[in-house]
Amino acid sequence: MGPRSLVIAVDLGGTQVRAALCDLEGNFLRRAECPTKPEEGLEAVLGRIVGLVEQMRSGIANDRLFGVGVGSPGPVDARSGVIISPPNLPGWHEVALQALLEERLGLPVRLANDANAAALGEWAFGAGRGHRNVAYVTISTGIGGGIIADGRLLLGHRGLAAEVGHMTLLPGGPRCNCGNYGCWEALASGTAIAREGAAAVRAGRAPILSRLVEGMPERVDARRVGEAAAQGDEAARGIIQQAAEYSGIGVANLLHLYSPEIVLIGGGVSRLGDRLFVPMRRVARQRVMPPYREVPIEPAALRADVGLLGAVALFLEEDGGKSVEP
Ligand SMILES: [Zn+2]
Repeated sequence: MGPRSLVIAVDLGGTQVRAALCDLEGNFLRRAECPTKPEEGLEAVLGRIVGLVEQMRSGIANDRLFGVGVGSPGPVDARSGVIISPPNLPGWHEVALQALLEERLGLPVRLANDANAAALGEWAFGAGRGHRNVAYVTISTGIGGGIIADGRLLLGHRGLAAEVGHMTLLPGGPRCNCGNYGCWEALASGTAIAREGAAAVRAGRAPILSRLVEGMPERVDARRVGEAAAQGDEAARGIIQQAAEYSGIGVANLLHLYSPEIVLIGGGVSRLGDRLFVPMRRVARQRVMPPYREVPIEPAALRADVGLLGAVALFLEEDGGKSVEP
């Protein structure tokens, strides 16, 4: 592969931009981060990204670098390198981030939505290693996903495939961020768990959770619902179980659609552990046809660095056409 051995990875989030200088084995040589402050506008955020990349490549000759991989909040048109209109980056609309960064940095840039990048990261460096078919779901504030099918990341038209969180699981269910009702994300994300937890506190049905938030429903988040459940709060347990069962339906749908060899669940909510995984697996297995019942449904392996490692993995696909296995 010549002298090229390094990638600069950028994980662009709604609150933080993180960057790292990495080799293709996923080792971090340098790293830095700064607040995103998207409210200051596109130009300011671009300046911060460029600043971090310059820090990462200081003293490194360009011919040692494959380029810059960027994971961004979706939806992202990965084929044209355009960020479409992410809820987490208000005011960003059809931003040609790949072209803008290539022009300022003089390096090749590859862009993917953060969930797709995370799927690639898990496939290359995490719990998906060695498989040709992986379904990855991240359950945190929202629900996103990425599908590795037949040894390549499934992109779809405009690179918009695998917005798994917006499949309808309950017609007439709660309103989703996307405007629809009853999406997987509206039923089982961290936001959904917090919403149900807050309602239980307001209704006086969750005494332990209520104590954890000092009676203030607006302080309920998914982590606290998990803590209350661990301490025996029946309402909190019920809320997590219901969310987990909805996720089981979502996973069953993914098994039928993509026939993965393994399903990986990442994101903050996955840290609820067995309280999430046991009901989710049970429901998924009840609902799938027999050939899918043995497919493992496992926690993802990479944690806080999954976004950066996913951005590195964008360069493991040498042809840029997402077809080379790690
Ligand atoms: Zn939705």
